[in-house]
Amino acid sequence: MDFLKGMIQDLKDKNLFTELPVLGTEQKNRVVLNGKEVIIMCTNNYLGFANHNRLREAAKKAIDTWGFGAGAVRQIAGTMEIHIQLEEMLAEYKHTQAALVFVAGIAANRGTIQALMGEEDAIISDELNHGSIIDGVRLTKSKRFVYPHLDMEGLKKVLMEAKEARRRLIVTDGVFSMDGDIAPLDRIVELAEEYDAMVMVDDAHGDGVLGKDGRGIVDHFGLEGKVDIDMGTLSKAFGSLGGYIAGRKDVRDYLINTARSFIFTTAHPPSVAAATMEAIRMIQDEPEHLQQLWENTRYFKTAMIDLGFDIGYSQTPITPVMAGESKEAMELSRQLFEEGLFAKPIVFPLVAKDKARVRINVTAQHTREDLDEAIAIFENVGKRMKLI
Ligand SMILES: *Cc1c(COP(=O)(O)O)cnc(C)c1O
Repeated sequence: MDFLKGMIQDLKDKNLFTELPVLGTEQKNRVVLNGKEVIIMCTNNYLGFANHNRLREAAKKAIDTWGFGAGAVRQIAGTMEIHIQLEEMLAEYKHTQAALVFVAGIAANRGTIQALMGEEDAIISDELNHGSIIDGVRLTKSKRFVYPHLDMEGLKKVLMEAKEARRRLIVTDGVFSMDGDIAPLDRIVELAEEYDAMVMVDDAHGDGVLGKDGRGIVDHFGLEGKVDIDMGTLSKAFGSLGGYIAGRKDVRDYLINTARSFIFTTAHPPSVAAATMEAIRMIQDEPEHLQQLWENTRYFKTAMIDLGFDIGYSQTPITPVMAGESKEAMELSRQLFEEGLFAKPIVFPLVAKDKARVRINVTAQHTREDLDEAIAIFENVGKRMKLI
């Protein structure tokens, strides 16, 4: 496989090659990363649940009761009562008839879109949708329509173009992961009603972050019952692992029988289901985590704006710190790391060539001291690099 040498060099030439950063500690506000102690600001552990004692204890207890592995795919013999309890709890939390858990968010998107949409159908997608949605679309033979990011006139136009299709599905991220902006889901639902389309929203970054008790974007806009498929991940704010869809019971029944990423993979270890249930309980009975997340977000963003950084148009804890071209974003990340702050650069083709950035995710776990130190590091490095 010597051809890989040239291909790897090609990635390096384009500034697209990275090694995996390795943590020597659990996931928390300060970690040891590649051997160095740093404040970490690029995780999706929004509420600090990934390493919370309540999740640890729930998982340990489930291991004692249920063992470690599930031992089979869901459809054959891998579904335990605890998997069903999690799905019932998710449906209740999301105020839907039913929910179905997949091994990961990427599997939920791939399986759901692949199973629901046929050759005669049309899928209508925001141009900045997440890669796992794009994968799902690619697994179908449906006609594809892409509208400019958040552009409702653009959406209307493609809905008209797609009117000959048997069925239409509009699919969008709820919170966009690169910029932290929010899809105008209320307008999307209106247009979907007008043009007879279904709506699927990927709420990976809205779950546990937006809405009452972190119920997500559907609750944020008051659209309960109006979004056909509310997809989310259990791997981010919930601190666990897995993806799910919440919606009608017949959607669940159909996907169990047709979604390939559900059928051909082993069920979660029962401890994962148990820890996830504990996360859903905790987000409802300990509102302080969500309050802290938003308080930290406001504190950090205000300080960064006061320093003169360009942090884009984010409406959520995701905070892009604009650096310019790829090389500058990589240099920013490198210098931050040297001073004790870890955040990955995000470069072309993930974002436009001149919109390379370091993406910061503030979490509820960051203390005031962490944030003040991070802000001071940004001030130093930002001045040195003439970003402020
Ligand atoms: C992270 C993410 C996913 C994938 O979720 P996993 O559970 O990590 O597989 C899907 N969609 C969006 C928008 C995401 O940010």
